[in-house]
Amino acid sequence: MAYPDTYYARTQTDRKTRPALQGDAQCDVAVVGAGLAGLTAALQLARAGLRVAVLEAQLVGFGASGRNGGFVTPGFATGGDAIAARVGKIAARDLHQLSIEGVEFVRDTIETLAISAAMPRPGLLSVLRYDDGDALKAYADQMARDHGYELQYLQTEKVRSVLKSARYHQGLRDPSAFHIHPLNYLRCLADEIERLGGKIHEGSEVVQCDLSGPQKMLRTRQGTLRASHVVLATGGYTGPVFSQLHRAFLPIATYVMVSEAAPRLVAQAIATAEAVGDNRRAGDYYRLVENGNRLLWGGRITTRAASADALARELRREMVGTYPQLAGLKTELAWSGLMSYARHLMPQIGELQPGVWYCTAFGGHGLNTTAIAGKIVAEGILGASDRYRQFAPFGLSWAGGAAGLAAAQLTYWKLQAQDWWRERRATPKGEVTA
Ligand SMILES: Cc1cc2nc3c(=O)[nH]c(=O)nc-3n(C[C@H](O)[C@H](O)[C@H](O)COP(=O)(O)OP(=O)(O)OC[C@H]3O[C@@H](n4cnc5c(N)ncnc54)[C@H](O)[C@@H]3O)c2cc1C
Repeated sequence: MAYPDTYYARTQTDRKTRPALQGDAQCDVAVVGAGLAGLTAALQLARAGLRVAVLEAQLVGFGASGRNGGFVTPGFATGGDAIAARVGKIAARDLHQLSIEGVEFVRDTIETLAISAAMPRPGLLSVLRYDDGDALKAYADQMARDHGYELQYLQTEKVRSVLKSARYHQGLRDPSAFHIHPLNYLRCLADEIERLGGKIHEGSEVVQCDLSGPQKMLRTRQGTLRASHVVLATGGYTGPVFSQLHRAFLPIATYVMVSEAAPRLVAQAIATAEAVGDNRRAGDYYRLVENGNRLLWGGRITTRAASADALARELRREMVGTYPQLAGLKTELAWSGLMSYARHLMPQIGELQPGVWYCTAFGGHGLNTTAIAGKIVAEGILGASDRYRQFAPFGLSWAGGAAGLAAAQLTYWKLQAQDWWRERRATPKGEVTA
């Protein structure tokens, strides 16, 4: 077992491995999947004194949680209007508030556990690729009014003074968002769970289960775990063993690349340590790592796993299209990861049947939402709150199988085309577009 070759795996600060489950074991809560969702739930339950055991098919953080862009920002994989259309304005506002709580959970956990290896850096710039400052101002006003959440409006000149690209127009600065080394964060969560008495078993794929009755049973190739509660947190890697979850999500691949070490060249384009994202659906997002030594750049989604190298070429085209001055910047490494998406694009969080909990489908917006999911599922198990019911309108409906994937790819292409058209219409003659 090994991590895929990612920047995070190359720079992880500990190399501890954990034994597979052997023989029969018993605990209060069994968690399946050692990603951010599973480990956050396990941490909260261990903090409350429950006997917790985590079963992970590969390694802690092997899935999306150990491979992502590291942006910790409020919100969900879909926009506030779509959420409000489904649940109404008040419930949508409460959900957004919860998503802010997820950001705060990650921040507090890093502070409380002194996880310096997560290397948190403050700030996110969200920038427009067309001229529409009024829309941004209106959005900032709404966030201030509804959530007391501060977003700073930036004029085009201000944006271009730090992001040296003619592609960009106005932007919003979110001083409360931040970015982290997600694998190091996750591995420190695992250490803390173990310090509190929890067990984590790597190389322990659940291949069979019986979730009926008061005692649930999970079988791996070498052992059996029994527990009165089970938390399923298998994300985009969920297999048919958990059939109700398996039919309710679409595995969507997305891509990240990291440049060679070239601080002077990178600085000719990007003069901020803050994370950056553009406003397109599945647009570009990037940030400097190693104090500006390298550029980490992510984007693109596909419904069929494409080769990371081929996608890296597309990401490079995007990068050079935005920053022609980076044409000579070499890509050192590229990788992909699978996200789990529901058709409604919202997380799936709830209790499937007595004692069987699920928290999955965080899409491309998982760092804050896995935190809140782990927290509120733990609260549900402990009987401390029923906040997980806020996600009841977003159930485990069938995702459509192969036809669902085809539809998702078509939707993505349509949105890309709309983004391109909107940008082209709004770009003054003479400025280049892709
Ligand atoms: C390339 C990329 C970039 C991203 N960038 C960002 C970002 O910048 N900001 C953001 O907010 N979100 C981002 N995301 C999304 C975010 O990473 C995910 O939403 C989140 O990590 C999902 O966490 P999870 O715990 O649900 O799943 P995962 O992290 O995928 O964990 C699931 C785990 O379950 C295990 N598993 C599966 N089946 C079994 C089984 N039968 N038995 C035992 N174990 C099993 C898997 O091995 C895996 O380790 C990105 C995702 C990707 C892929």
